[in-house]
Amino acid sequence: MTFKATVQFEPFRVKTVDALGSASAERWNEAIQEAGYNPFNLRAEDILIDLLTDSGTSALSAEQWAAMMRGDESYAGSRSFYRFEKSFRDISGFEHIFPTHQGRASEHIFFTALARRSELTDLVIPNNTHFDTTRANIELSGIKAVDLLAAPGLDPALDHPFKGDMDVARLSKLLEEEGDKVPLVMLTVTNNAGGGQPVSMANIRAVSEICQQRGIPLILDACRFAENAMFIKRRERGYADRTPKEIAREMFSLADGCTISAKKDGMVNIGGILAMRDARLAEDCRNQMIASEGFPTYGGLAGYDMEALAVGLQEVLNEDYLNYRLDQAAYLGSKLEQAGIPIVRPTGGHAVFVDAGAMLPHIPPLQFPAWALSVHLYEIAGIRSCEIGSMIFAKKDAHGGELPAPYELLRLALPRRAYSRSHLDYVAEAMAYVMQNRRQVRGMAIVSQSPVLRHFTAKLAWIDERKAA
Ligand SMILES: *Cc1c(COP(=O)(O)O)cnc(C)c1O
Repeated sequence: MTFKATVQFEPFRVKTVDALGSASAERWNEAIQEAGYNPFNLRAEDILIDLLTDSGTSALSAEQWAAMMRGDESYAGSRSFYRFEKSFRDISGFEHIFPTHQGRASEHIFFTALARRSELTDLVIPNNTHFDTTRANIELSGIKAVDLLAAPGLDPALDHPFKGDMDVARLSKLLEEEGDKVPLVMLTVTNNAGGGQPVSMANIRAVSEICQQRGIPLILDACRFAENAMFIKRRERGYADRTPKEIAREMFSLADGCTISAKKDGMVNIGGILAMRDARLAEDCRNQMIASEGFPTYGGLAGYDMEALAVGLQEVLNEDYLNYRLDQAAYLGSKLEQAGIPIVRPTGGHAVFVDAGAMLPHIPPLQFPAWALSVHLYEIAGIRSCEIGSMIFAKKDAHGGELPAPYELLRLALPRRAYSRSHLDYVAEAMAYVMQNRRQVRGMAIVSQSPVLRHFTAKLAWIDERKAA
């Protein structure tokens, strides 16, 4: 007989500790009031568990810290650049690789260079779902951004292995009708805006084939390439015996380039990557880069940042790490479901999305149920989360009134290697308490807001308090 454990424990031990923030409910109540009931305005010291984002919040490994000591800060041609380039080329096979300070910088450089090259003015770039910075950078370059997510991804309650897949039929139709206006096609792996849902290898291949037939490059927004590779290993036929790195290589082999925020699967606190096969486009990006980001062998990064990234890109493909990573989200998701809390199914790689609209049906969408849930969860438990609902995505109707977003979601994002299973148990307990007492959660109203990206700065109030005032 051999011993086989069933518990999915963290595949690392703690070497340096970082104290949690305030554990005082009194302080949480004061702090959120001082913050105008906007979790973005909270100070980290007032937060017990911070699940605002998985971006740039990873814990570094001992190997990464050790590599950082080797950082070569030469302005041009530093050793650190070549170590970073070698590490990412090993995974992606791309010829031209540039470091940048974060994902949106890669996007800005790439789309600006692309728009400059084109003589056409009414360009269109399709994606499964454009992430908000990607859409913003495409639109700033005067290009139209369209989302072509396949049907399963649009249904939050549907259990489907690859809810990030692109609708290939709609892509073919778009290319038939307006192919000459499409300078490239993008695929976001995993689909962040759609709940961190993966894209199957079959879908990447099908999109790649359509692009090849028409000579249009396929560019991956590959922020979470390793999580996507692991989902393929677990869920797609024929990949169970392949390593995550082999799968990632196959994903990149089907593409012509990528933009990456290294703050996700790069396992670093700051950094980005821009990479491609085409030498001419690379030349244009290099020129654009020098003007806005830095010399192409450092991008916006220090040598030690590139060292940490060179190591992080390899560590993220470790199978024990990826099993732990995907199981963390699944574990929290199943605990919430046991408490009767509706979540987006199945759980993605980097977060659990709670369906706040379904959980708090007594709060109408334009009283921001997911925002109210986020504030309430902080007030009672010191946990910070993020609204993905009408505060961010409401649209204006013809008369300037607001139309609610299609979903009211609360995102519990999981920083990489940062929180333990008992921290997640605490989050699940707090959420179960909220679920049991959900009638106590009231709607919220906006007191002040800015015209763009209002969620970062808006101030709010609980509804009946405002009426009483
Ligand atoms: C985070 C993210 C970006 C932008 O990257 P930043 O490093 O935050 O600038 C782009 N696309 C996706 C899918 C992301 O998750």
